[in-house]
Amino acid sequence: PETITVQELANRMAERGGNVIKTLMKLGVMATINQVIDADTAELVVEEFGHKIKRVSDADVEIGLVAGPDSDAEKSTRPPVVTVMGHVDHGKTSLLDAMRESDVVSGEAGGITQHIGAYQVKLATGARITFIDTPGHAAFTAMRARGAEVTDIVVLVVAANDGIMPQTIEAIRHAQAAKVPMIVAINKIDLPEADTQKVRTELLQHEVVVEEMGGDVQTVEVSAKKRMNLERLEEAILLQAELLDLKANENRAAEGAVIEAKMERGRGSVATVLIQRGTLRVGDTFVCGKEWGRVRALDNERGERLEEAGPATPVEVLGFNGTPEAGDDFIVVEDEAKAREVSGYRQRKDRETQFVKSARGSMEQMFERI
Ligand code: GDP
Ligand code: MG
Repeated sequence: PETITVQELANRMAERGGNVIKTLMKLGVMATINQVIDADTAELVVEEFGHKIKRVSDADVEIGLVAGPDSDAEKSTRPPVVTVMGHVDHGKTSLLDAMRESDVVSGEAGGITQHIGAYQVKLATGARITFIDTPGHAAFTAMRARGAEVTDIVVLVVAANDGIMPQTIEAIRHAQAAKVPMIVAINKIDLPEADTQKVRTELLQHEVVVEEMGGDVQTVEVSAKKRMNLERLEEAILLQAELLDLKANENRAAEGAVIEAKMERGRGSVATVLIQRGTLRVGDTFVCGKEWGRVRALDNERGERLEEAGPATPVEVLGFNGTPEAGDDFIVVEDEAKAREVSGYRQRKDRETQFVKSARGSMEQMFERI
């Protein structure tokens, strides 16, 4: 059933909440400002105020929020977004750190100064690669569970001395389920006990057919520790990206997904957003999950202020009215009214879902006791 809170109804009519409550009393309905009333009651109140009624169904609020697909002519090539996965201690963090050092920009500017959950490296050739800096499949699945599909390529790290382990298999399953192409980085080849051939054979048992065995999965033998073959891995990523023909329209309102979000003292709610299409600018009004806001500032991983951020760029956004969650969508809207409408609708819907869940929970508890 369609519902609305008294506050929201007052907002939409641009009337005082107190006057709405009074009108409700006149109609024989006792309600507080945060109370939810049904659409029929709301309609009576609107008539009492002499406003025109325009019933907007729930779905209408979301319709058109995300624009349709861009035409090929509007799109241009964008950098790939890469997630590193693999078994614990196989070298995910070491590899991410090693790749980060190949960034020519941070080399000049004094390195990456803050962790924002994702970063972009610019290679000597000018090519760029975006890495999600929260390795592990937990983050990957959490994002996917919320409908965010940000990863273009998975780099599966397998230690050559250890081979395929349980979390390697899980990572393979996740990449396969998400239909995201994989590149295998066979790590720790500096160790004497490294057996890269064994890794390739074991992969075959999990339906990962590497190029050397007639398949199309690239493998690169690396050592994160000794910084061996990192360029080759980057080349493999860029080759895969070329095959995927990754493109986005940068000349439109920005859309993206939250990589991570937190509440920071002095800065308020901040979130790292990966822009997926369009360009985000300071001053833009946005909806993000159940929250909304207006971009007050944009920071990159080097702590530099940006005026704008385009496709595949991870950027820390300030100006949220509440803290979103990883995997939430991020959509620039035309004005504050639209942002409030969507966020209000989503919060209401969320409350209803929570209510149903807790009601169901207590029913189950009741039955348990019987
Ligand atoms: P993660 O759990 O997958 O993030 O793995 P880490 O990056 O934390 O690495 C686990 C251990 O392996 C650390 O002690 C690293 O120093 C070591 N390590 C990572 N890469 C290499 C490598 O290429 N060669 C060797 N010998 N050790 C490595
Ligand atoms: Mg790690």
